[in-house]
Amino acid sequence: MDYLWSPWRYQYVQKQIPETGCVFCRPENFVVYRGKLNFVLLNLYPYTTGHLMVVPYEHVSTLDAASSETLQEMILLAQQAQRHLAAIYKPTGFNLGMNLGESAGAGIADHIHLHVLPRWSGDTSFITTVSETRVLPEELSVTHQKLTAAFTGVTEPRP
Ligand SMILES: [Zn+2]
Repeated sequence: MDYLWSPWRYQYVQKQIPETGCVFCRPENFVVYRGKLNFVLLNLYPYTTGHLMVVPYEHVSTLDAASSETLQEMILLAQQAQRHLAAIYKPTGFNLGMNLGESAGAGIADHIHLHVLPRWSGDTSFITTVSETRVLPEELSVTHQKLTAAFTGVTEPRP
């Protein structure tokens, strides 16, 4: 997957190779909200603008290894994420999901994370289809500002 314009990728390559091996155990960039047991952050390789992930602080690789409290908060944060994304970006649909294990497509297989993606009809654009290149309409730092504000209730986004 290539991006036409993606300055943050270079930062990512430089910064996100932690000595301890797990980027979710040391999230440095683009956290939008910290709950009690989970946090919410932007995906640095978004499929769509507003692509969020809900991640437990606990380093676990399966749902079975996570506590009920963690999983409850996870879905409640996904609910908030959906609400804020709906208010800010007016998508017409959402994808929510988890890839557990590398064979299932998990980029970071050791630490579970729940994806929340806003979707619009036609967002699989011609350019994506033909060239595996996506054009993101908004810089990650801008998305980060908007969603941090929404999660912390600093500004109520208006339609
Ligand atoms: Zn971890």
